[in-house]
Amino acid sequence: MLLQWEGVLLKHLRELAVNIGRRPTGSWNNQRAAAYLVDQLTASNLEVAQQPFPCLDWHRGEAVLVAPETKIPLRSADYSGPCDAKGPLVSIGTLTALQESCLRGSIVFLHGSLTAEALSPKNFRFYNPAAHQEILALLEEKQPAGIITPSLQSDQYISVIEDGDFSIPCAVIALDAVPALLHLAGSSVRLFIGSRRRASHGSNVLAKTGRQGPRAILTAHFDTKPDTPGALDNAVGTAALLTLAEYWQERPLTDSVELVFFNGEDYFSNPGETLYFDTVLQRPHDIRWAANVDGIGLRESSQGAAAFGWPAQWKTDLEQAYHQNGIVAMEPWQQGDHMLYVLNDIPTLAFTSVGIFDIVDSVVHTADDTLDLVEPTKVLQVVRCLDELVRKFV
Ligand SMILES: [Zn+2]
Repeated sequence: MLLQWEGVLLKHLRELAVNIGRRPTGSWNNQRAAAYLVDQLTASNLEVAQQPFPCLDWHRGEAVLVAPETKIPLRSADYSGPCDAKGPLVSIGTLTALQESCLRGSIVFLHGSLTAEALSPKNFRFYNPAAHQEILALLEEKQPAGIITPSLQSDQYISVIEDGDFSIPCAVIALDAVPALLHLAGSSVRLFIGSRRRASHGSNVLAKTGRQGPRAILTAHFDTKPDTPGALDNAVGTAALLTLAEYWQERPLTDSVELVFFNGEDYFSNPGETLYFDTVLQRPHDIRWAANVDGIGLRESSQGAAAFGWPAQWKTDLEQAYHQNGIVAMEPWQQGDHMLYVLNDIPTLAFTSVGIFDIVDSVVHTADDTLDLVEPTKVLQVVRCLDELVRKFV
């Protein structure tokens, strides 16, 4: 593609990842980003619709545990409500201990088998083991004043519980501070978490070409985790689709294509995805194939895609489009918005940067996910490939 399209891509990238910046679902910035999408897509002569839903606007506050002779810094779990409570510190390391405990008014330190992995949020539809729900239900029943969990990683704060629907405030402690905390078990402590929850709303943005009939769907989520400008995750995918929409003004499509901008991939309960699953995907037979774009354009990384249920008769054309645009075929992975289509037996492609999986927690979900990680020409490789596929397969 010509230099002109790099300029268009950069315009959208800067607006999303710099001018708007962090845009967690339900926030003012998230609503600004949705309004930007509506404006841009309308200007590209697409039929634009929004799918609104209720959600939280969550603000992180500081968190600390105060004991008689020490203060231990904590980090508020994402989506936690506020807490300012004094009580005995109770250490609980097994399900049996949790079942037999009396916790009302206490500050609980959960660890051991209870915090071996992230617990699925109560209302998360797509993956929700009964064992996770049992732990959360027991905690809500026993009503401790607050919960502390060890981070899931040694070099940063990754919470076991991230759930805006969970009623008990939660904070995370760094792994190297765990011995000091265990030492305090039984003493009276004060847990302070300054985070706030506010009722808000968000919306998916859908845009289609005017034609009727079976369609291809290209998707990208535009929300971010709470503390990141989300350049790679996922201003790149959003800007790629906006660039395509402008490109189609100059080189019109003859077939039916829909662009779906999901809102909620990085929010605890995936509200936009769930709403879309329950509405549009109740009629999956209208959809010929789908492609999701998330995390493309990483500097010094190949661009890749994984195919799910891709029809045998389309394979040669797909390989050719990959080849012409330098796209590498990847092994399928199960996390991400592409799974909405896979679950409905729709032929699906998931595009990303091959190297992204190594930096998800260390870079992508942090404040370091900025535009200097993005190489625009690599994003345009995917844009070109998607344009070719749309012209081939609809
Ligand atoms: Zn993402």
